[in-house]
Amino acid sequence: MFFWVNQLIFEAIFSSYILLYLEKKICRTLLTINSKKMKTLKDLFEHQLKDLYNAEGQLIKALPKMAKKATDSKLKKAFEDHLEETKEQKKRIEEICDELGIKPSGETCKAMEGLIKEAEAFIEENPDEDVLNAGLIAEAQRIEHYEISGYGTAIRYAKELGMDKIAKKLVKTLDEEYHADELLNDMAEKRLNKKAISQEQDK
Ligand code: FE
Ligand code: FE
Ligand code: FE
Ligand code: ZN
Repeated sequence: MFFWVNQLIFEAIFSSYILLYLEKKICRTLLTINSKKMKTLKDLFEHQLKDLYNAEGQLIKALPKMAKKATDSKLKKAFEDHLEETKEQKKRIEEICDELGIKPSGETCKAMEGLIKEAEAFIEENPDEDVLNAGLIAEAQRIEHYEISGYGTAIRYAKELGMDKIAKKLVKTLDEEYHADELLNDMAEKRLNKKAISQEQDK
């Protein structure tokens, strides 16, 4: 009889220990899931910064290939110049992340992956020279527009969060992206004009 009671008590204590242990474990995993969740605008801002950082990194690898492929000397130079700017832009995000006490890595910009893939697929089609240059401009403008929207958002968040110094840094990059897009636009327009002139002469 005593033996049975003892065993019952032992079992009750033992099982409550197991329950406690499991409860703790569940709580801990829930906590870690929660800590990864973005909760504030600052979290979202940091997420966007990391995304842009990764996007710039991908571009640093892609722009030399685009410059190599461009047969128009002005377009080639535009790509090479923007490559140097892009390296600075990446550094700028590093500095910003340093100030925020976070690391810039950890995100993959899937959109930039797609945009670069699209440019590569276009190059692989081996188009005629004029078409190649025109197409490279088109692909590059898509990329610049994506960056312009990304930096525009990041600047808005930085201002909302009262990070004026960081916002200023990002505006510098945004201006460069606008400038790169304008240059590409000019080239696209000149090409159109040139084509119009040659068609006039054909008549
Ligand atoms: Fe950029
Ligand atoms: Fe992205
Ligand atoms: Fe497409
Ligand atoms: Zn750019």
